[in-house]
Order: sequence, then structure tokens, then C-alpha cells
Amino acid sequence: RIYCSAAVHSSIDRALWISGIGADNLVHVPTTGALGGMDPHALASLIASDRAAGHVPAGVIVSVGATGWGATDPVGDCLAIARAEGLYSHVDAAWAGSAMICPDFRHLWAGVDQADSVVFNPHKWLGAQFDCAAHFVADPEPLLRTLAIHPEYLKTPEADGVTDYSEWSIPLGRRFRALKLWFLLRSEGLDALRVMIRNHVNWAERLYERLGALPRIQTVTPPILSLFTFRHRDGDDATADLLQRINADGRIYLTQTKVDGQFVIRFQAGQFEMTEADAETAYDVIAELSQTDV
Ligand SMILES: *Cc1c(COP(=O)(O)O)cnc(C)c1O
Repeated sequence: RIYCSAAVHSSIDRALWISGIGADNLVHVPTTGALGGMDPHALASLIASDRAAGHVPAGVIVSVGATGWGATDPVGDCLAIARAEGLYSHVDAAWAGSAMICPDFRHLWAGVDQADSVVFNPHKWLGAQFDCAAHFVADPEPLLRTLAIHPEYLKTPEADGVTDYSEWSIPLGRRFRALKLWFLLRSEGLDALRVMIRNHVNWAERLYERLGALPRIQTVTPPILSLFTFRHRDGDDATADLLQRINADGRIYLTQTKVDGQFVIRFQAGQFEMTEADAETAYDVIAELSQTDV
């Protein structure tokens, strides 16, 4: 069985189907607290009851900045349980991981060094050209045991001392994606990338405060990094209608999710060239369209 919070990305469900483990063996652990993270006590007791029932716990997937509204698990606590139980652990920080280039945000994934693997996608928030997902593994051995294959035509002389990344993943042929990251770091510099991330977080926080003061807007989840959610005070239909009008207006583009069953609008600052003026525009659009009746 694989354990993850109820807030995880759909990619995890799909990975379970295609790995043959099956959706029935994905256990959604109840969440708790302001960050909507998986409850470590619930995780531990689900593992114990599954063992007692004859199931085989195999892994824990910890989320940092889940897609809907940024729900974040207590990373250190969950990974410590995975370790103690002998389970493989993976941290999905596909979006939020980019912010971890800033030491000031690393408290969000404190304890991540205990993970067996971590993924983040520099193409999402760091500005790397699509696609670029960085996968860190503490020990490549489990990947090699699972995926390495040595047909005659792939045997190469002098293979000793060569890291054959074709043995680390499902595809055999791979592009040189690391080059994009290298160019990004060389052309922008780490400091400029950190400034960009911090700006996005600051602008989102400021916008969140300002939107909360609008008469017809109700903020729902506070910013987790640069992502927050809000809704129209009149409910789901009014919120869906507002979102539709915001996107039809064309100046900004927002998406939706559900929080505790309520339809909410997601705001996320993350575009590489975003400026403070764009955050102003976002405020103007939302203020204007939320005040007008349809
Ligand atoms: C985007 C995202 C994914 C999917 O990443 P892919 O590399 O496109 O598979 C998974 N998890 C989270 C939290 C994401 O934001």
C-alpha cells in the first residue's frame, strides 16, 4: 500500500494504476492543520491497521505545495514514520520546490533530507523551458534494481565508472535537460531567481490582503508561497460566474479548485516576467468584476 494525503495531485493516482499497484492500494490519509497536511498520527495508525489486516505497506508520498491550494504535509514527521516503518518515501514538490532555492522558505519542507526521493519541476516556477523535472534520489540502487536491463545491443565496452541514466528511468533515450537548467542559472544567476520567487510571494500576500477587504470577496486559503484562493460571498454559482468573467475579460487568467467542497478561485503568481504592475492589474480586474452585477 502507498500512503499520501487526500490533497495530492492526480499524477499519483495515475502512477499507481500504471505501476500495477492499483488505485485500491492508494490510501488517502486524513489531513489536519492550517497547511492541510497529512496527519502523521493518522498515517502511523493506518500503516499499523493495514499490517494487521495483512496488507503490505510499501511507500509514503509526501506533498509540499499540492496543486489545488498548496496543501503541505508535515514533511519531517511523515518521513520519520516512513523510515521507522521501512517504507520508501517520495516528496512531491513539483510546483513549490522551486521556492526552495530561497533558504527562507525551506522551513516548508524541513526534514526533507530523510526522503528517498524528491521531485520538483523547474519548468513550473523557476523559468526553465518546458519540460524539465528534477528528480533527486538518495540512492539510485532501487531504480537500477527495478529498471536496469542489459540486452546485447546496449552492452558497451568500458562501462565501468559510467553512469548510465537510461537505467534510472522508464524511457531509454533522454534529452539533455540539465543543460536548460545550467543555462538558466548562468544567464539569470541564482540571486535574480531568488528575487523573482520572493517577489511573487510578496505580491501574492499583498494581493490576498487587499482582496480580503473587498465587499463581495471572501478569501478562503491564505497564501502558501504565492498561491491562495478566494470566492464570491454569494456562493459557488457566483464564484464560477466571476471566474468566467475574469477569464473572458482577458487581462488575467485564473483557475479553480474545491476547498472543503466549496468552489474557489485560485490565484498564483509564478510567471517568469511578472511585475508588481501585473499584481495591480489582477487587483483591478477582480475588484472591478466582483462589483459589477451580471
Ligand atoms: C505539476 C504537478 C505534478 C505533475 O508533474 P509532471 O512532471 O507534469 O508529471 C505533480 N504534482 C504536483 C504537486 C504538481 O504541481
